[in-house]
Amino acid sequence: METKIKVGVSSCLLGNRVRYDGGHKRDRYVTDILADYFQFIPVCPEVECGLPVPRETMHLSGDPDKPRLVTTKSGLDHTEKMRQFCYNKIKTLEKEKLCAFIFKKDSPSSGLHRVKVYGKSGQAQKNGRGLFAAAVVDHFPLLPVEEEGRLHDAKLRENFIERIYCYHRWLSFKGNHPDYKKLIQFHSQHKLQLMAHSPKHLSAMGKLVASGKDLAGDNLLEQYQLYLMEAMALKSTTKKNINVLYHIMGHFKKYLTGDEKAELIETIENYSRSIIPLVVPLTLINHYVRKYDLSYLQNQSYLEPHPAELMLRNHV
Ligand code: SF4
Repeated sequence: METKIKVGVSSCLLGNRVRYDGGHKRDRYVTDILADYFQFIPVCPEVECGLPVPRETMHLSGDPDKPRLVTTKSGLDHTEKMRQFCYNKIKTLEKEKLCAFIFKKDSPSSGLHRVKVYGKSGQAQKNGRGLFAAAVVDHFPLLPVEEEGRLHDAKLRENFIERIYCYHRWLSFKGNHPDYKKLIQFHSQHKLQLMAHSPKHLSAMGKLVASGKDLAGDNLLEQYQLYLMEAMALKSTTKKNINVLYHIMGHFKKYLTGDEKAELIETIENYSRSIIPLVVPLTLINHYVRKYDLSYLQNQSYLEPHPAELMLRNHV
């Protein structure tokens, strides 16, 4: 059986009763859908740093760039305890070879975006990040990270999961004695996917790979992975996908009959008018790729960036 991709997750999202009030925040998309594809590594920073369940609520206070973690009523400061936990936990997470992390939104420990930070006046600004989430992002800058709330937005979800699979392919590639020839192969397989996210990055990466022989191996891989994950973090749009779809069509239009060509163009145009989802023209393209046995396209990650069962390209 193929090993599942490892993804870190805030423990309460799995239904574990670790919250300050003894409850949980089970997220059905995480537990009922994603759990079939990913092996979750749960982390509850507050419980794992030694705080009890139940416990007093906490919030961030002070400088949003360097906030402190304090209890809301008694004002106990748990910042150092949490920092020490983060330092140790990051070391164990390094060994897990995570491909992503899903954080619980709004938490002073686990929240990723717009966490409330209270100033001296008692007024809160939504511009902070939970201490543990910040430690993960700082230590694993390439790691795809997201909050559970944002996974309910179809486009953000598609982008996040596509990044997870791409990062997983990259880590497998890196762990498999990569050489220059294999990098060219990896780049070639990801060209259309990169084009759908950032034509600018695709062009820069093409130049980097072309000049790669002059660079020391590790240096080349370091630069390449920065571009790769930066490009994948940019969302693909209908316009960029249409560009890729017509580009693909250019590869095999000489094989298509008149009817097949007309049907494909009509499907792409319907996608551009948001009448049908991306999965429809891609299903047709995959059919032609198989029918005409087009090996260059068969290997393109764009045509199968993640399991079809996740239905990530089924939204309009
Ligand atoms: S949000 Fe984070 S710290 Fe709070 S209960 Fe969930 S996992 Fe624990």
